[in-house]
Amino acid sequence: MEFKDSTVVVTGGTRGIGRAISLAFAKGGAHVFAAYLRDDDAAQDLLAAAEGLAGTIAVIKADVSTSAGATELINTAAARCGHIDVLVNNAGIIRDCYLAMMSDDDWDAVIRANINPLFHCCKWGLRKMMARRSGSIINISSISALIGTMGQTNYAASKGAVVSFTKSLAREAGPMGIRVNAVVAGMIDTDMTASLKADVVDRIVKGSSLGRIGRPDEVASVVLFLASQQASYINGQAIVVDGGII
Ligand code: NAD
Repeated sequence: MEFKDSTVVVTGGTRGIGRAISLAFAKGGAHVFAAYLRDDDAAQDLLAAAEGLAGTIAVIKADVSTSAGATELINTAAARCGHIDVLVNNAGIIRDCYLAMMSDDDWDAVIRANINPLFHCCKWGLRKMMARRSGSIINISSISALIGTMGQTNYAASKGAVVSFTKSLAREAGPMGIRVNAVVAGMIDTDMTASLKADVVDRIVKGSSLGRIGRPDEVASVVLFLASQQASYINGQAIVVDGGII
């Protein structure tokens, strides 16, 4: 119950890795605000799964790549709970294509969806945390950022930006008692991975020393660790959770 009565905001928090993060915090007693873009069924399913947990989950349909969506999310959470303790920037998309064939739209959509939420949610979330001089921000990156993956120049570039953004914001926010870290995930079993070609997934999974795909809860547990007091001296780090690919 380390997170009892904490306020936790999770973008993309109703599905896949985000769902596991939302449920783990709610099991720990937190009040979770999970933002999503359009999958209403996943949101309803999460609400059902949250029944009976120590904490609560509220779902908010908001496009966090826009200032309006991000402020709606942050303001809703802060208005209901009075403060924000943890912000997890997890929302993201892929639009895989070899660069020579990539459309302007595939490039723009991925850069916008994977980087803009960091700016908007961190800006408004940080302001709430600054008032209490405490808080933890965790941003979800990908091993694509570190090792490169074919057909993902747009995605890899955006996830590299997540790491550099994290390190810079950690320097700004650290003096105010706010920690900012990233989790660099490997191949995790979600809808996003299901949309990839099976041989691509297989090749990456077989290249890991554990030789299996990861589970969303295996990422969530590291996010909770980074948000907890056990990680009180960790700031500006990118923790790799990939079953030993790198
Ligand atoms: P997913 O597609 O299952 O879930 C993504 C969630 O993000 C969805 O709920 C979607 O509604 C939400 N979302 C996307 N854009 C949004 C926006 N603008 N506003 C609000 N919500 C938005 O994907 P996942 O596999 O659970 O991935 C979650 C995060 O982890 C992503 O950032 C992804 O890049 C990253 N990641 C995933 C893997 C993997 O193997 N699955 C590996 C490394 C990193």
